[in-house]
Amino acid sequence: LLSLRGVRKAYGDNVVLDDFGLEVSEGECVVLIGASGSGKSTLLRCINLLEVVDDGVIELAGTDITDPRADADKIRSTIGIVFQSYNLFPHLSVLDNATLAPIRVHGVPRDEARRRALEMLDRVGLRDKADARPDDLSGGQQQRAAIARALVNSPTLMLLDEITSALDPELVGEVLDLLRDLRSEGMTMLICTHEMAFAREIADQVCFLHQGRLLESGPPAQVLDNPSQPRTQEFLRRIR
Ligand code: ATP
Ligand code: MG
Repeated sequence: LLSLRGVRKAYGDNVVLDDFGLEVSEGECVVLIGASGSGKSTLLRCINLLEVVDDGVIELAGTDITDPRADADKIRSTIGIVFQSYNLFPHLSVLDNATLAPIRVHGVPRDEARRRALEMLDRVGLRDKADARPDDLSGGQQQRAAIARALVNSPTLMLLDEITSALDPELVGEVLDLLRDLRSEGMTMLICTHEMAFAREIADQVCFLHQGRLLESGPPAQVLDNPSQPRTQEFLRRIR
């Protein structure tokens, strides 16, 4: 479904992604791990076209999305993205947050957008919070609302960047439960996380990034329990 080859991204002299390659199959759950600054968030931002790559190819469902002639809005409408925090517009209700992009950017009729948004809020257990403001929700509820918003366009791919790291520990579980559900429904996901126990449980493939390169990848039992690269071993030792 998703294929990256030779992707390079630099900010000035700082090469953040270097000859980066990755293959993600449909329905696969890929977890990205690596030290702070290793390029995980930049990778997700490149896939969502929030950043322009300097070199290489990113193919999504057979389309080269790095082609300057590609329709960025259309591509983004097929990708759901959720960040660590500051996801929701504070001045809009939860429902309006979820319908804004579909209506304004993707031209979905208002009624249709509301219907789909309510369905997704129901799906994440927040149907009764549709008219609430984000500030009136707990952190876990806010992240679930952000996930619902990302699901409204029926994305073929979900990008999730440390979506539990700003949450109080007791709120992490409800968000992770939701990701487990999405996985069992066959959603293709690319997840950055520092939660190794969760990575071990949910990942089909774990990818270890080091200085913008994919140093090691494979099933969790291999990468997390029996890493072949000294850098991976060192990283895992440090975070334990
Ligand atoms: P973390 O685990 O802390 O989230 P990360 O693996 O997500 O780290 P990135 O956020 O991708 O790392 O950052 C990789 C590198 O790119 C860092 O050196 C960072 O300073 C740099 N960087 C990221 N975004 C920008 C930007 N907009 N302008 C300049 N440099 C940037
Ligand atoms: Mg990051």
